[in-house]
Amino acid sequence: MNASNPGHPEGVGGGPLVDGPHDPEHDPRASYVLEPEYVASLTERVVATTGTTVQVTSPLDGAPLAHIPQSSADDVAEAYRRARIAQAAWARTPVAERAAKLLRLHDLLLDRMPELLDIITLENGKARKHAFDEVAHTALTARYYARTGAQHLATERRGGLFPVFTRIDVNHVPKGVVGIISPWNYPLTMAISDGIPALMAGNAVVAKPDAQTMLTALVAVKLLDEAGFPRDLWQVVAGPGRELGGPMIERSDYICFTGSTATGKLIAQQCAERLIGCSLELGGKNPLLVLRDADVEKAAEGAVRASFSNAGQLCVSAERIFVADQVYDRFVERFVARTEAMSLGASLDWEVDMGPLITAEQLETVTNHVDDAVGKGARALTGGSPRPDLAPYFFEPTILEGVTPEMACFGDETFGPVVSLYRFHDESDAVARANDGEYGLNAAIYSRDGERARAIARQVKCGTVNINEAFGATFGSVAAPMGGMRASGMGRRQGVEGIHRYTETQSVGTQRVLRLSPQFGLSAERHAKVQTLGLRLLNKLGRA
Ligand code: NAD
Repeated sequence: MNASNPGHPEGVGGGPLVDGPHDPEHDPRASYVLEPEYVASLTERVVATTGTTVQVTSPLDGAPLAHIPQSSADDVAEAYRRARIAQAAWARTPVAERAAKLLRLHDLLLDRMPELLDIITLENGKARKHAFDEVAHTALTARYYARTGAQHLATERRGGLFPVFTRIDVNHVPKGVVGIISPWNYPLTMAISDGIPALMAGNAVVAKPDAQTMLTALVAVKLLDEAGFPRDLWQVVAGPGRELGGPMIERSDYICFTGSTATGKLIAQQCAERLIGCSLELGGKNPLLVLRDADVEKAAEGAVRASFSNAGQLCVSAERIFVADQVYDRFVERFVARTEAMSLGASLDWEVDMGPLITAEQLETVTNHVDDAVGKGARALTGGSPRPDLAPYFFEPTILEGVTPEMACFGDETFGPVVSLYRFHDESDAVARANDGEYGLNAAIYSRDGERARAIARQVKCGTVNINEAFGATFGSVAAPMGGMRASGMGRRQGVEGIHRYTETQSVGTQRVLRLSPQFGLSAERHAKVQTLGLRLLNKLGRA
């Protein structure tokens, strides 16, 4: 495996933020530094009066990057107070004006690409190319809702009780203030993209990004400000989720949560207590199926991206690969070869194919899963070890064979660069094994026969299924709903579903001419008879 050393190659970032080793006496590890003024210009957007800060370190070198001011429960209350005031005015802002700001955001995201890629990579450690995916996804989302929002939010006419005499208008009115709690793995798009349709629909947002990736979320908030959104419309609080989650849910009209299934269940309980809605985008143990008629080279290429994008810290990444007997050996040879050709590194360089894990905890989980599997008899066909020579929390891309149900990585989400291979003889057995377990987020199927693969997709219990692609065909198609079945979540982001979740559906019925009470001196009995005749007639006419 190639390895590019951590470092700061001249001009790699292209952004203005990174400035060589600093203070090497005190922190000899530090390879990257952010200008204090730059950090201050971002953190001033956090509603925080506690006077305490939490240090963010970079997984590229384990050195400090910035200090983030921390919010209290009172700060959360203040953020909601400001957001409510801003929302009342925003709900009256014409939809076309909201859309124009989103298009400005789209352009700003592309214009500020180097800065965004630097910050994402510095904070998260991911390969720069995977940071690019995030910026692209956020821009796609902004453009999609800018161009379709008016249509999704338009008042709809539906059939009324009495044709002609009852008019029904269905309005989509904003919920109010939406709380967004997001994880660290895709720190830009998870922090911002779910808020884009919320704003488009006339809501305000209070966001609590993950503590480890606050800077990325804050750069994005600066871009929202620059795009012309009223400043108070998007509030940011910082702190541990278990402390700020409760105060947020108490004051929110809706919660959009992305993170682990365990936390998602806690959030669902608290939302139920208040009878507010929530969308929960949770974990997965995603299967990838290589059918007997698959293009093996294409499947191997897809399997590398499916398993190792963002070092496997991706909710839709494949952790289980089921391969038909007929192509198993060829697939495994190509998959291992492609994995071993990956360029591993911890830098801002475009050439890196896979970066480090984000934290020591992530490294511990991944190491435990691999050690447990190998200790119980699984074989690592490639990888299998941490690589502290590359970065403090680096773990090699790892392909396991011989994984059995008593091993933790058989059914538990690893959320790292570890994938297990399983051979199958019979497709229906492969589908049953793919559906095994509690999750149902994403699946991939490789086959030369699209028709057959789409038929199999209907039997897979996952919210998204990609054919001849790892995950990008669905995730990148922002007009299509995305989310999990079973323990992988509730609700959907993207598409019309992704904006309607932030609205209340309101039906307005206008009754004209014909009254609903008996008319023309009819008794209640005669009135019921006339109505019964009417019901029979409408059925004969084929009305809904
Ligand atoms: P996590 O649940 O620990 O944390 C996610 C967010 O929730 C963070 O902002 C955290 O501060 C906050 N939080 C933690 N405890 C909380 C509580 N009690 N109340 C309110 N908020 C709380 O998840 P994580 O480990 O940071 O993220 C990884 C997980 O997220 C994986 O399981 C992954 O599959 C999942 N994920 C899912 C999607 C998706 O779209 N389905 C996308 C990305 C990540």
